[in-house]
Amino acid sequence: MLFGRTQKLPIKIADKGVVEWKYAACGYCSTGCSIEVGLNADGKPVASRGVAEADVNRGKLCLKGIFEHELFESAGRGTNVLMREHWHQAWQSADWDTALDKLHDEIVRIQQTYGRDAFAIVSTGQMLTEEFYTLGKLTRGLIGTNNYDGNTTLCMSSAVSGYKRSFGSDGPPGCYEDFEHTDCLIAWGSNLPEQHPIIYWRMKEAQEKRGFPLIVVDPRVTMLAQNAHLHLHITPGTDVVLINAMMHVIFTEGLEDKRYIEANTVGIEDLRAEVEKYDPVTASKICGIDEDTIRNVARLFARAPAAMQIWTMGINQSTHGSDGVVGINNLALITGNIGKPGGTSLSITGQCNAMGTREWSSCSGLPNYRSLENPEHREEVAQFWNVDPEFFPKKRGLYQTDIYPAIETGQIKGLWLIATNPMSSLPNTARVRAAMEKLEFCCVQDCYQDTESAQYAHVYLPAATWAEKDGVMTNTERRVNRVKPITQPPGEAKPDLWIFNRVAERFNKGGRLSFPESARDIFREMAQLSEGRLADISGMDHEWVEKNRGIQWPYTVEQRERGEPPPKGGKRIYTEDGTFSHPDGKARLIPLPFVDNNEVPDEKFPVWLNTGRLIEHWHGRSKTGKIGNNNKFSPIPFIEINPDLAMELGIQRGEYVRLVSRRSDAVVMAMHTQRVPKDMVFLPFHFHDCANRLTLGLLDPHSRQPAYKQSAVRIERLADQKMAARLSMEMRNF
Ligand code: SF4
Repeated sequence: MLFGRTQKLPIKIADKGVVEWKYAACGYCSTGCSIEVGLNADGKPVASRGVAEADVNRGKLCLKGIFEHELFESAGRGTNVLMREHWHQAWQSADWDTALDKLHDEIVRIQQTYGRDAFAIVSTGQMLTEEFYTLGKLTRGLIGTNNYDGNTTLCMSSAVSGYKRSFGSDGPPGCYEDFEHTDCLIAWGSNLPEQHPIIYWRMKEAQEKRGFPLIVVDPRVTMLAQNAHLHLHITPGTDVVLINAMMHVIFTEGLEDKRYIEANTVGIEDLRAEVEKYDPVTASKICGIDEDTIRNVARLFARAPAAMQIWTMGINQSTHGSDGVVGINNLALITGNIGKPGGTSLSITGQCNAMGTREWSSCSGLPNYRSLENPEHREEVAQFWNVDPEFFPKKRGLYQTDIYPAIETGQIKGLWLIATNPMSSLPNTARVRAAMEKLEFCCVQDCYQDTESAQYAHVYLPAATWAEKDGVMTNTERRVNRVKPITQPPGEAKPDLWIFNRVAERFNKGGRLSFPESARDIFREMAQLSEGRLADISGMDHEWVEKNRGIQWPYTVEQRERGEPPPKGGKRIYTEDGTFSHPDGKARLIPLPFVDNNEVPDEKFPVWLNTGRLIEHWHGRSKTGKIGNNNKFSPIPFIEINPDLAMELGIQRGEYVRLVSRRSDAVVMAMHTQRVPKDMVFLPFHFHDCANRLTLGLLDPHSRQPAYKQSAVRIERLADQKMAARLSMEMRNF
C-alpha cells in the first residue's frame, strides 16, 4: 500500500564512509549475535551490521546491537586512574602502579587484620571468558578470599542451581535449533520479543513454519503473550503450584513417559506423592489458572512428540526460583523431553557472557563446573595451577546478595567491584547504600566512571569495554564466540585482563602460578583443562571459533582431529540414556512443596509491583542511557498501570505518581495500558534510584537470587506535577 503514491521511493541510507568491517559477538545480551562494526578512514567506529552467515542471528541485529558502535565514545567512560583517601572527598588523578599497589596493600591489610574472607570480590557477566578465568585463578589461587561472586546471582543463579539439582551440573541442554523441531512450546516468565529479540525471531520463524502451540505463562500481557495461543495469566510467585498441578494431570491420566523415567531418572515415587496434593481444582485457587486450562496445557505438553520449555527472570527472580527451574526440569523429564530435537528445558540467559562466568570464573567453585566441595576437583585444579590444594576453601563462600549483609555486620571490610553496579542493581537501595558507606576500602573497576557505586570507591580503575578487548564469550545455547579488538580503549583505560595480570604480579612474587598475557594462550590453557568435562572446548581455538562464527560446546580435540566440523547449531547435551552429571548418570526428580513466603499486596500496599526490562535499554543504563537512539524511547522511569485502577485513583495518562513500598518511594510517570491487571503495576528496572528503592528482594534459599518481581506498593497521586517532573529529570543524568 503506497497511500496514494504510484511509485515506491527508494530508501536512502547515509553513507558512513566505512572502509573496513571488524568482527565480534554482541556485548549486550546472551543471544550471542555475530556483529561487524564498520570503521571509517580515520579508524572511527561508525556503523554496526549483523553477520549473514552466523547461525545465531543470520544477518539480523536488534535495537541495541544496531547502535553498538556508539558505545565506544559514549559519555561517562573512565579515562584516568583515580584515588582518594575517603569516599566523600574529591577524586585525584593517579598512575596505574600507585593504584594497583594500593589495591594489593589494602587486600593484604584487611586479610591480615580481619581474616582471609574479610575482603570480598564481586564480578560480572560482562567480561570476556579468558578474563573470568584469570580473575578466578587470581582469587582462588593467590588472594584466597572465599567471598567471591558475580552479579549473575541477580539473574541466573536460580537456573544454575536448578540445573545442578536436576541434572548434576549447570549447562543448558538445548539450543535455538530446537524451535525448528518442537511440537509444543511453553514460555515461563520470558518476554522474548523485548528481551531477546533475535531468539524471538528464530522462534517465530520456526513457529510459523511448524504451527506448534505457544503457551505463555506470565502475570502480564507481554508482547510474547500477545502472540501466544494460550496466555496463562498466573498469580505472581505461584509457578511451582501450576507445574505440580500439570504433573498431577499427567500422572493421573497416564501421560508420562515411563520408559524414559525408568531409564534416566531417580525419585519418581517421592515426586508422585508430592504432586498428588496438587489436583487442578485446589491448585487453581492458588495460581489463578482455571482447572480446565491446567488440564488442557498438561495434555498438550505431554502428548506432543517433542515439547520444549524456555524461561527467563519470571522464574529465576523469585523466592522459589530454583524450585521453579527444578519443576520445569521435572516436567521435561517425566515426559522424556530432554536431549532430543525439540524436547528441552532451555534457560534463556541474561548478560552477554553470563554463561562464560558460570563455566570459567570459579565464582561458585572451580573452572569448568568443578566444585570446591569435591576433593578430586580441588586436587586436579591445584595441580594444574601449581597451588597447594589446601589453599582452596572446601565449600563455596557468600553469594553476592549475602555479601552486603555481611558488610553491614562488619564481617566484610573491603570490596573490589568489577564491571558491576550494586547501588543500582541490588534490591532495597537504602540498605546497600548504608553497607557501602561502612566499607574500609572499595575499589571500582569499570569502563564507566559515573556508575553510582563509584561514589563509594577509594580507587577507580578505568577498564576497556567489549570489543576494545580480545577473547571469547559463551551464549545461551553454549556457543563460544569471538570478540576482537575493534578499537583502542580511551585514555589510560586498560583491558580487564591486563589489570588482573598486574594485580596477580603483586601477589605472585615467586612466579609460582603462570598468568599468560594473551587471550589466545589463556584459551589454550582452558581448552586443556576442559578435556573430558561436560563443557569440553578442547577442539576449539580462537581462529576456529571465529571462522565458524561461534562453536557450541562440547567440541572435543578428538572431533577436531577426526576432521569433524562443528555442528552448525544443533548441539544438545544429555542426548543418551544415563548421561546426566550426577555420579550414577541419572537425573533427579525432586518433589517441590510450595511455600508461600512472598510479600503480597495488603490493605496498606494493595498493588503488586512487577519489574522487568525494555527492549531499548540494557540493565542499569550505564551503556544505553548514553546512546541517544536507545535512550530517547524511555529517558525517564514510568509504570504501566491499568486504566481502571488509574481512573479509581484519578490519575491521568502521563501524570507523575509516587510509588510507596515498605522500603522507600519513587516518582514515576503513569502510562495507561491493559497489559497489566488492575492489581498490578509494571516498572522497568533500568533506572537508578527507582525500582530498587522499592523492591524487598527476599532471597531464594538455594540460589540466593532476589525476588525482584513480587513486592507490594501503594500509588499516590502527586498534586504538584511540575515539581515531580523536575525531580524525575534531575535524577536522570543519563
Ligand atoms: Fe545483541 Fe542480544 Fe540484540 Fe542480538 S538480540 S543484537 S545479542 S542485544
